Amino acid sequence: MSIPSDLDISRSTPLRPLPEVAEQLGLDPGLLEPYGTDVAKIRLEAVDELADRPAGRYVLVSAITPTPLGEGKTTTTVGLGQALSRLGKRSAVAVRQPSMGPTFGIKGGAAGGGYSQVVPMEALNLHLTGDMHAVTAAHNLLSAMVDNHLHKGNALDIDPHRITWRRVLDTNDRELRNIVSGLGGHADGSPRQAGFDITAASEVMAVLALSNSLRDLRERLGRIVIGYGRSGAPVTAEQLRAAGAMAVIMREAIKPNLMQTTENTPVLVHAGPFGNIAHGNSSVVADRIAVRGSEYLVTEAGFGADMGAERFFNIKCRNSGLRPDAAVLVATVRALKAHSGRHRVVAGKPLPPELLAESPADVLAGAANLRKQIDNIRLHGVSPVVAINAFPTDHPSEHAAIRQVAEEEGVRVAVSEHFGEGGKGALELAEAVVEAAEEPNTFQQLYPDSADLRTKIETIATKVYGASGVSYQPAAARALDDYEANGFGELPVCIAKTHLSLSSDPALLGAPSEWVLPVREVRASVGAGFVYPICGDMRTMPGLGSHPAAESIDLDENGEIVGLS
Ligand code: ADP
Ligand code: MG
Repeated sequence: MSIPSDLDISRSTPLRPLPEVAEQLGLDPGLLEPYGTDVAKIRLEAVDELADRPAGRYVLVSAITPTPLGEGKTTTTVGLGQALSRLGKRSAVAVRQPSMGPTFGIKGGAAGGGYSQVVPMEALNLHLTGDMHAVTAAHNLLSAMVDNHLHKGNALDIDPHRITWRRVLDTNDRELRNIVSGLGGHADGSPRQAGFDITAASEVMAVLALSNSLRDLRERLGRIVIGYGRSGAPVTAEQLRAAGAMAVIMREAIKPNLMQTTENTPVLVHAGPFGNIAHGNSSVVADRIAVRGSEYLVTEAGFGADMGAERFFNIKCRNSGLRPDAAVLVATVRALKAHSGRHRVVAGKPLPPELLAESPADVLAGAANLRKQIDNIRLHGVSPVVAINAFPTDHPSEHAAIRQVAEEEGVRVAVSEHFGEGGKGALELAEAVVEAAEEPNTFQQLYPDSADLRTKIETIATKVYGASGVSYQPAAARALDDYEANGFGELPVCIAKTHLSLSSDPALLGAPSEWVLPVREVRASVGAGFVYPICGDMRTMPGLGSHPAAESIDLDENGEIVGLS
């Protein structure tokens, strides 16, 4: 059976009026601020309005180490939310807002897919309610105020060579990675090397995602460090007197966006921080509303469990105080076969035909990755449930192989057909999640705030990634000492490494051991509230491929969008 395109499914879905979707969350429709008919912002009063309600079960969706194609966390998140509704639970879904860089670049849309999507997918994948643009504007206002401060006499004695605050744009554009700004005459500013990151990589985006309230957002913006003075002391957005205006720009953006799934389950879409140099999770504010507005809130964390789930537990939950009740680990036949090391999956290329041939042996040969990621959830005291995200090219024997591994590990497991069948296809998964979430909650973070930064890094590297140790380049060691001296040592760490391996080397598949995590550099997002060690090359401004998705996207004769997938 062939499935219509995501865009066709999205267009043919009957939408429920948003006030009714809000009522499913127990929200008075008066708390909505409609943007057109299919999207609304939720006023922050909702947090207090729902404060007396019991918290629902909080379910994370994570995955094994993915291939470059993605293994279906978003589709599973949406499908599971729909299935929980079918089981009679009041459920809600919370996801990140996609960045337009990848939408027009390699990936296409990021609304889920098939019969498990957030709709309307055009609204989700394009401007939505302008939050991305607000982040861009707030970020670049600070950039302008930094350069203006230098131009107008540099009263704070900022060292122009130690400015870490760049500019951002929501487009994949490698030309802007490294630029010289301020060219021209004296009136045009002071020339210096600068550059752009994609908006999702902005610290303002991470601040938006981690703030608990508008006041908290304002304070975090003030704590942003833009660089260092000649004395070596950090210089903040507060000192530049920029944070108040930035908060004004972000005043609407901090309200979560309400949408719905293909089966009318409420979805809160909010914030889209990068998954490598930031924590890659949707917003705390949205979760605080939805966890009290539902019996089951299902949310996704970017990349595999070693990255997204680890940051969800140790950064996001540390900020919000919310406790997860269960974690779904999405596993696919194709990714486990890739972890066997016998097949190579390349982004933007069709899967190699020999990978598609029936081979439970290949699945078992890659199973070490699944076992380690199960472990990574359990390390935090949370019950994992393995979701086998079924693809049309899978064979029953291969699903049986994944089941066997999960059962050997003593973990609940279900095959999920949500992509082709919607919530009906994820009922077995939803039942397993309900059982797991009802087990006693033994959630714990991996390290206390008080541990020093090196201990935090080494704890994650050895316990979660399976490294035998950590090595620090001299610049990284110096930065760590400086951060401890500046009082940033209490912050959690967000390790920036490849998502394509448990290790820092994308070529090492399965569950590598006997390797050392090399920390090249360390940076701090003090406003967002984490320190991020960088291991390997990290791109913060993607480029476009030979044939970007943008080439296929157009308007038809009726002005309707075509080619957005
Ligand atoms: P992630 O959130 O883990 O990156 P997505 O849910 O975005 O993954 O899925 C990655 C890609 O694979 C998307 O294009 C999605 O439509 C597709 N996909 C996911 N699950 C299935 C499935 N079961 N069958 C077919 N395609 C799928
Ligand atoms: Mg996703």
